Amino acid sequence: MASIFTKIITGEIPCYKIAENEHYFSFLDINPIAEGHTLVIPKKEVDYIFDLDNGSLEGLMVFAKKIARAIDTSLGTIRTGIIVEGLEVPHAHIHLIPIYFEGQAVSLGKKTEVDESRMKEIASLISKAVEL
Ligand code: 5GP
Repeated sequence: MASIFTKIITGEIPCYKIAENEHYFSFLDINPIAEGHTLVIPKKEVDYIFDLDNGSLEGLMVFAKKIARAIDTSLGTIRTGIIVEGLEVPHAHIHLIPIYFEGQAVSLGKKTEVDESRMKEIASLISKAVEL
């Protein structure tokens, strides 16, 4: 059965999309731990990130870097952190966490409330800043 993230790629499940290319896709996490919390995934459905072949893993990281740069320039972060856990959704993904101030908690599980209109606004700001 297709993963939730494959269904997002195909448009079966809606998302706040940031960007995509032939092999990779990014969108806002539905339960953000900070405004602009973004997921970056390979289109190829592989559960464990370290089961990706080397080329796909390298490509995923380079794509994530471009999205992180867009987050930094559009949201006024001090930098963007990354977390890889993958215990909830069996489709490899990198969490990009905008860091707005020193000492900000950067760990999964501490959700922050972001309403729908702000999610749309953030997705638009980041996606406009992406240079693929
Ligand atoms: P992990 O597998 O690394 O623990 O995290 C999976 C992440 O996927 C969670 O942060 C969760 O909020 C996010 N997530 C789960 N289902 C959906 C969904 O349908 N849409 C979006 N945008 N994010 C999701």
